[in-house]
Amino acid sequence: MISRRDLLLSIGAGGALLGTSRSSFAAAERVGKMEAMLPPAKGNRVVICGGGWAGLTVAKYLRRENQNIEVVLIERNPSFFSCPISNPWLADLVNLEFLMHDYNQPASKYGYRFINQPVVGIERDRKRVYTPQGYIDYTFLVIASGIRYNYAPWFGEDKDLARQAKLNYPGAMIPGSEHLALKRKIKDFEEGEFVMTVPPGLYRCPPAPYERACMIAEVFRRNKVKGKIIILDPKEDIAPKGPGFRAAFEQVYLGMIEYVPRATVREVDLAGKVIKTTAGDFKFKDANLIPPQQANDLVWMADLIAKDKEGKPTGWADQDPLTFQAKADPNVFLVGDVISPALGVTYPKSGHQANAQGKIVAKFIAGRIAGKEPKPGSLMPDNTCYSMVNGSPQEAIVINVSYEYSESEKKITPKARTINDRSEALAKATYEWARAIYRDMFI
Ligand SMILES: Cc1cc2nc3c(=O)[nH]c(=O)nc-3n(C[C@H](O)[C@H](O)[C@H](O)COP(=O)(O)OP(=O)(O)OC[C@H]3O[C@@H](n4cnc5c(N)ncnc54)[C@H](O)[C@@H]3O)c2cc1C
Repeated sequence: MISRRDLLLSIGAGGALLGTSRSSFAAAERVGKMEAMLPPAKGNRVVICGGGWAGLTVAKYLRRENQNIEVVLIERNPSFFSCPISNPWLADLVNLEFLMHDYNQPASKYGYRFINQPVVGIERDRKRVYTPQGYIDYTFLVIASGIRYNYAPWFGEDKDLARQAKLNYPGAMIPGSEHLALKRKIKDFEEGEFVMTVPPGLYRCPPAPYERACMIAEVFRRNKVKGKIIILDPKEDIAPKGPGFRAAFEQVYLGMIEYVPRATVREVDLAGKVIKTTAGDFKFKDANLIPPQQANDLVWMADLIAKDKEGKPTGWADQDPLTFQAKADPNVFLVGDVISPALGVTYPKSGHQANAQGKIVAKFIAGRIAGKEPKPGSLMPDNTCYSMVNGSPQEAIVINVSYEYSESEKKITPKARTINDRSEALAKATYEWARAIYRDMFI
């Protein structure tokens, strides 16, 4: 767990990273006498770190469960930017307003406190969360802070190369500036190879890179660019929705998208603009370098990362898969993209999943407070994921997954239904899904 010295350092680093360096360093100077940000809680206080898909859902549904629970949502960004539908936005199929939402409306409507600060420290033994503006004590803590990039497999400990890759070839898997930069790159691209890397292992939104390739191809075609998109994928084949994506690559964007399987990145030569992989070397004019991923910093800070058999960190949170409670701490819940696979199932890291898990976490926390928790396994999440594979006319494909828990086998079984035949009806359903889920979190 974080020490006082680490906390001081992280306040400095977090603040500088997030552009609030002056107040952060002032806070770091006063860390010895850091003050409480809020008056002591009158009853139960739930502090939620991260106002994304999971955190927003927990906040709203906790308040709906029990108005007496004080809910505090801490988020480093001032407004919400959606990764879902950001690929259609790259091709101007929707505008930025479709993706962006304010935190004021749900906080005011459901009566939770929104704090626009970075979380810079977590002390589980004191049940305390730190921001540069002071600390907040909790009864229950929810960590819903999403992913972080892990450039170490590409650049080792060289932080400067990682910084250059992020700056010049952003992964655009964490919303904000990187998406805007990627859109500018695509718009300005003139000709040649545009390379995309699909990360190895677990990563946010498994179909997102393939959908993104389609939307980039849409822009190139519209702009009459002589460009080719090369997807470097460590997997054997496209998944999920493989046949649907392959058909789009071969029929809608013929000759514009080259899919390279079994292409594990061995070396990224930023200066020479070459990516060396197990499937050969690929030169690029420009790129969307999506790096390997892990649970976001806050899970590491709270010392709640799962370990493998050799005791090495897996990179993902160590939670009970039925209740989302941290295995090491009954007062902490881990939800959304941060979580590990468990009981034989890997929940996809999707907004839909994060939203569904958030509702379950709200039930477990409210139930614990009321002294009547649901039975573990009685509430299961689900997933729906649309992918836009054609921009003109707009056409999409979809996967729906439900999950069943067997208590006797101690196993979760997914049941998937995929529609790989792209259609305009599914494109319409994509936007309906997005509107409904934004409404669920914000209105
Ligand atoms: C291109 C793309 C397309 C996608 N398309 C879809 C789709 O069509 N459907 C779908 O269901 N999913 C999709 N996803 C996946 C979806 O975006 C994620 O699974 C979802 O955002 C996960 O929710 P979360 O709450 O776990 O994390 P996030 O939504 O990332 O929320 C985490 C929040 O924590 C905040 N945070 C992190 N650290 C701190 C800190 N120190 N202090 C304070 N706040 C902090 C972050 O700013 C962020 O707001 C897509 C993703 C990408 C990249």
